[in-house]
Amino acid sequence: MVTETEILEKLGTVMDPEIPGLSIVEMGMVGEVRVRQDEVAVDLIPTFLGCPALELIQQRVEAALKPYGATVRFRYDIPWSSDRINQAGRARLAAWGVAPPLPETRTLPRCPLCGSPNTEKQSDFGPSLCRALYYCRDCQQPFEGMKTI
Ligand SMILES: [Zn+2]
Repeated sequence: MVTETEILEKLGTVMDPEIPGLSIVEMGMVGEVRVRQDEVAVDLIPTFLGCPALELIQQRVEAALKPYGATVRFRYDIPWSSDRINQAGRARLAAWGVAPPLPETRTLPRCPLCGSPNTEKQSDFGPSLCRALYYCRDCQQPFEGMKTI
């Protein structure tokens, strides 16, 4: 019989479609995993409403859990927030050049390229709804940051 830990390990192989190498577990998208008799059920928490990748993510999760015949669904009653992204996920975002979301007390992210706090926001509309565009005054490079919600 499969355990919740094994299911979580499988879920850790499902990547966010927008950021290669970032898993949905690291993104904090896994709500609840239930294993009961032969039944496996996984609740996913959608990240940013309007991100177009939810259907794709659900398909990937179903494919990864196919041997277990898992029931996969999105729950909309649990609000996802950027606080759910774990440390590994934040490190991956930074390595990919996307500034991780900040605690709400800070308003501007550090530059993921040079680490400078001397940044400014250029636009709330990045390449996807999840991201905003920033500019680093020190290395004079634009960069993307995950929006804090
Ligand atoms: Zn910089």
